[in-house]
Amino acid sequence: MKASMNGGATPYDAIIVGAGPIGLASALLLARQSGFASTRLAVVDRRLPEELDKVAAASMDLRVFALSRASERILRVCGAWDDIRATRAGPYERMHVWHADVPPHGGEALIFDAAEIGERDLGVIVENSVLQASLAGALRRAGIALLEGEVTSLTQERGAVNLGLGDETLRARLVVGADGAASRVRELAGLTAARGDYGQTALVAMVETARPHQHTAWQRFLGEGTLAFLPLHDGRSSIVWSLPTARADRLLTLAPEAFERELEQDLDGALGKVRLASERIRFPLWKLSAEHYVTARLALVGDAAHVVHPLAGQGANLGLLDAAALADVLAEGLAQREDPGAERILRRYERWRRSENELMAAAIDAFDRLLARGSGKFAELAQRGMPWVNRSSLAKRVFIERAMGLAGELPAAAAR
Ligand SMILES: Cc1cc2nc3c(=O)[nH]c(=O)nc-3n(C[C@H](O)[C@H](O)[C@H](O)COP(=O)(O)OP(=O)(O)OC[C@H]3O[C@@H](n4cnc5c(N)ncnc54)[C@H](O)[C@@H]3O)c2cc1C
Repeated sequence: MKASMNGGATPYDAIIVGAGPIGLASALLLARQSGFASTRLAVVDRRLPEELDKVAAASMDLRVFALSRASERILRVCGAWDDIRATRAGPYERMHVWHADVPPHGGEALIFDAAEIGERDLGVIVENSVLQASLAGALRRAGIALLEGEVTSLTQERGAVNLGLGDETLRARLVVGADGAASRVRELAGLTAARGDYGQTALVAMVETARPHQHTAWQRFLGEGTLAFLPLHDGRSSIVWSLPTARADRLLTLAPEAFERELEQDLDGALGKVRLASERIRFPLWKLSAEHYVTARLALVGDAAHVVHPLAGQGANLGLLDAAALADVLAEGLAQREDPGAERILRRYERWRRSENELMAAAIDAFDRLLARGSGKFAELAQRGMPWVNRSSLAKRVFIERAMGLAGELPAAAAR
């Protein structure tokens, strides 16, 4: 649906900018958790998501995510989980992590097993396009408007925000910026963000391996980056190979056979021979943290608020927790008949999620500095600590619960 003007008309209660996974989940949670009427909500994107039938009939999306248990619960509340599970999603039951200085299958590798904490799996590997299409389907069923248009201006007036989409204007009492890492909403609202360049590029592709992946996510810290093999439902694996940009660029120019040999070497032969089963794509890696997530009548969620290194597979998981936390805070406000755009209410969301996200970002950076690329005394200590963690069931439980999104202050949708 093309966006149509409601400039002079009654404003929407909330407009979500961005129909990526986090924007779509935000809209559904505002309807299902906060008590907003579906007909008073709209999601705007310059490119609307595909229908699930079309995505399911197409070949696999190279962008896949490891989604945590907390994300699974949130997506259930959104009404999208059954479609996601039915469309090529595969659970992973273990994580096998080791450092380049030790052999993959020795006692020094760190193994997290869902069974050790009485869980059926640690999470599910899902394609970005499947996640998006499943959420968009739930949105249409819920009767929330999905509008096509690019936000180019944003002005505040008493009681509403005007969003300019070319020649058209939409009005809302609350705007949720879910428009990704290069967020225009963040910029138009004057919210500043700290950025950092990792000097790394992630290569992503699908591969076949001689040895079965055993529903295990394999990750090797290389000394100059990280290599992850995520297990797919059909026996193949999706690789995320984060490397100094010069090496990543060189690898992209190699013939498949030469690429495969370097890949096997970097995984230290843990899964035997490897064969490329797709094209290779690249993502330059950088981090971002917005200084403020909110201002009057506006809140940022997902990559618009924070971008983290993919080595821990947490970006989308953190974004879904943002969406659920915002829904909780607004539910409380609406129950007390407060204006959903009141900055006082939105600040509660900012305090909650900014501290949780900063904690995770700091942990991910420590992994990157000490294990993935570390050298020197501290890095050596961290590497020596891995077998210790492996032997301590308490330390392992703490790691697993964090990775599954079940630690910290949980929003209602993630807690059930
Ligand atoms: C290599 C790699 C691997 C990753 N692996 C994982 C993983 O395993 N697990 C995990 O949880 N996370 C992972 N992530 C992170 C994850 O990709 C992101 O956190 C997630 O995609 C962010 O979703 P989003 O909805 O916030 O933003 P996006 O998906 O970027 O969506 C933003 C939307 O906003 C729209 N938009 C932008 N500007 C405008 C505008 N002006 N007007 C209208 N619409 C606009 C865009 O069209 C887009 O649809 C990985 C990232 C990388 C790079």
